[in-house]
Amino acid sequence: MNRSLGRRDFLSGVGLAGAGAALSLGALEGCSVDVRTKAPAPPVPASAQAPGTAAFQVPLIRARPDRITAITVCTRPFRAQGPRLDVERMGSKTVVHNYGHGGSGWSLSWGSSTIAAENALATGERNIAVIGCGALGLTSGLLLQRAGAHVTIYAKDLPPNVRSSLASGVWSPDSRICLQDQATPAFKQIWERMARQSFRTYQTLLGLPGSPVEFIDNYFITNDTPAAPRPPSAAEQRPPFADLQGELIGDLVPRPDRFAPGTHPFGQRSVRRTSFMMFNISAYARMLVADFLASGGRIEIREFHSPADFAQLREKTLVNATGYGARALLGDQSITPVRGQLAHLIPQPEVHYGLYYRRVSFVPRRDGLVFQFVGDSDYYGFDDESTTPDRTEAELAINTIAELFNTDSPHSPDQRS
Ligand SMILES: Cc1cc2nc3c(=O)[nH]c(=O)nc-3n(C[C@H](O)[C@H](O)[C@H](O)COP(=O)(O)OP(=O)(O)OC[C@H]3O[C@@H](n4cnc5c(N)ncnc54)[C@H](O)[C@@H]3O)c2cc1C
Repeated sequence: MNRSLGRRDFLSGVGLAGAGAALSLGALEGCSVDVRTKAPAPPVPASAQAPGTAAFQVPLIRARPDRITAITVCTRPFRAQGPRLDVERMGSKTVVHNYGHGGSGWSLSWGSSTIAAENALATGERNIAVIGCGALGLTSGLLLQRAGAHVTIYAKDLPPNVRSSLASGVWSPDSRICLQDQATPAFKQIWERMARQSFRTYQTLLGLPGSPVEFIDNYFITNDTPAAPRPPSAAEQRPPFADLQGELIGDLVPRPDRFAPGTHPFGQRSVRRTSFMMFNISAYARMLVADFLASGGRIEIREFHSPADFAQLREKTLVNATGYGARALLGDQSITPVRGQLAHLIPQPEVHYGLYYRRVSFVPRRDGLVFQFVGDSDYYGFDDESTTPDRTEAELAINTIAELFNTDSPHSPDQRS
């Protein structure tokens, strides 16, 4: 059956047969860097393993509700038409917008902020204010500094008390970035530029102390039981979200390895393994703040109640990176909240792989294991502004992952840890 490749499928590596092309990293000061010097290894056929041996081993995840350290809830700043990146004159100020990145704010930050920095510098000003100290504000500030500007960040909250600090921390550049019917050719061009620029920048942040950015293996696990026919859900009758990765940046994702039931540690299930990039948000956000201050940046705690308050700033050019806060600050009702909840568990440094199983995503963050129930579709949590933690949902997410470790498989995960 010919169907479009969904984002969740894409993350699992389904349909990436053509994704082995080398990636040219373009103009790093006129150089071109090839980060994929050889085609990825072909999928490992199950028969390649010696009888009775598992193709790989994984350490046990202690997925137990009594190990919860925090349940955090946050709203993604979703705009059906995609992030706002235009430039607006407000009184005596030029305001460069850089907000509304849905579930992709960290992933697209460097690319989106490159556009914002270019727009801000095009005014000719070299003293620039950035409003907001989340993923978009920090990257805007750093990029402006690198171009020679003097930057002050004004924000009512700083990491770890910003919404960006409550993200899962994976490379997800098209997660709830816009609706499919709004992904015009012009938008796709900008999105691809942002995604590739960000990906390129993230490669320069690998291998640093504290591992702010790293690659991990991710296992996408299915039970292989045929789904019972059911009527389309309410979400499936709504306009779909855009899926852009497969179409526009498929070459950035390695092809998956596939493992048949019984040849891996997860019992009689099918497993696809791929690699993806993740962000250890505590270490990463700290690094961004430290880099900004070390380059002479200033941070001032300040809350703006309306755009009229911008007049109090001495800078004439402002980058507005207020994220979900732009909804109240500018009265921008085009921002829809999309609720997302994470259950954080005590870190396990030996666990260095991610999982996706029965609508639960697991990310092995070094600042705490992260479990998230992601629902049936990207409409899960849509237009839900509530930030009250839901303990039942948190336990469901944890117990779902725990199922993978209660298996009779001869290759069941190492129970000693
Ligand atoms: C559960 C969840 C998981 C997510 N996972 C991922 C992921 O894995 N990968 C990914 O790329 N993205 C993810 N996201 C999305 C990502 O978190 C957001 O897109 C991103 O945080 C937006 O960053 P921002 O800088 O625009 O906004 P924010 O982090 O909200 O920062 C806004 C800044 O503006 C300031 N501010 C706001 N209003 C005012 C005001 N009136 N006056 C003064 N200051 C103000 C705030 O104090 C803050 O400093 C996730 C989101 C959620 C909710």
